[in-house]
Amino acid sequence: MRLHVIEKDARFSCGSCGACCNQPWRTSIEADKASALDRHDFSKYTQLAGKRFYHAAADGRAGFFDLAKGEGTKCLFLDTDGLCIIHKELGAEAKPGMCRQFPLISSRTWVDERVSLNFACPSVQRGTGELLTNQAQDVAAVVPLSGRPVQADERVPLNARVTISLAENDALLGSIERLFEPGTDGDIWSRLSQSLDFVEQAIVKQGGAAVDLVVDSTAPIESLANPATAPLGTRMLFAATLQPDTMPADLTGRLGFLGRLTLIPKLMTLANFSGTYPSRVLGRNVTIQDGLAHPVAPDLDDESTALLCRYLHSRVWQRALMGTRLSILAGLHQHIHDVNAVLFFARAEAAEENSPALDAGHIRRGLGFVEFHLANQARVYDQTLKGWLRGQLNDVQVARQSLRLMRLPAATLARHH
Ligand code: SF4
Repeated sequence: MRLHVIEKDARFSCGSCGACCNQPWRTSIEADKASALDRHDFSKYTQLAGKRFYHAAADGRAGFFDLAKGEGTKCLFLDTDGLCIIHKELGAEAKPGMCRQFPLISSRTWVDERVSLNFACPSVQRGTGELLTNQAQDVAAVVPLSGRPVQADERVPLNARVTISLAENDALLGSIERLFEPGTDGDIWSRLSQSLDFVEQAIVKQGGAAVDLVVDSTAPIESLANPATAPLGTRMLFAATLQPDTMPADLTGRLGFLGRLTLIPKLMTLANFSGTYPSRVLGRNVTIQDGLAHPVAPDLDDESTALLCRYLHSRVWQRALMGTRLSILAGLHQHIHDVNAVLFFARAEAAEENSPALDAGHIRRGLGFVEFHLANQARVYDQTLKGWLRGQLNDVQVARQSLRLMRLPAATLARHH
């Protein structure tokens, strides 16, 4: 039987900041919970007077509606005291399942359901709340267990061709987890580079073709002098990672055939790393070149590195993407692009503020944007250019170039040290 396994050091207590109730995304509510709202007397909440509480689901999902928005991107039911009106009036069980679950995220591995936390939540980023392992009952109440049988004999894809056993997978991902543990040295790039080395060594050990093991992982990762010269695969994968940020909120989620077709030219434009697009999460036009190259940072500070390490450790432990939805190599490569997207948003924010340095506040905001808006959306490799994008994700040489994309510029390093 499958069981929930909760991440050992994860901590969370809601600080009622309201950030998760003030986002441009759609909030799905189950049909029975929506009709319970209609039956309740909310007359003491003047902000609800004459308002429709929910609408037809924009993605046409059967059995669900979309909860209405109030002012701007705020949920209609977010009260002036920062609390949820549905919760206050009808209790926690009456809230949409997705609200009850946040910030828990569950990953279905071959043998268990690994529960960890969404790093968009400021309380999760601080890591100071109650241990999640002490909240097992609450977790069990809101994270459904899948009825899928345990698949203990499953083989895990290392790349597009080579597979390993579950025990080998645990050993490999265990070594990668240790690279991101507190008290270990190195910047985020050298740790990701070493992770790629481990995966590559495992591929060779399993009889897969040696690819580029000549790479010296102790050498610092050089930034790309001009990001626009990165290989097409790196540029397209970065564009694909950013893609949900270029779409109107009501269009996110799965795309129809036409949507998938119109996506390709948009991706190509993004991948050229030129021009400006209206960023949904930043709420303003962003010039890609500025976000890629804003030379504000001497290096990431220790606080930013520690936060990104905790984030990556959590995702590797969860086996989220790595080996479950994608091969281990492709999943790691996608995590590299998620970190690139964090840095892209952080730099765009620093550029907007004319900030002389990239600080932990920028990184926290960038991570929030990625976790709230990109990592939880359908990924482009699930929807369009599937074969090509997945092929690029499975290419270790492209992954090494992707790692260089957002490395802070050496020229800036020299200037500040
Ligand atoms: S973002 Fe986190 S701390 Fe803020 S209200 Fe949501 S769950 Fe609570």
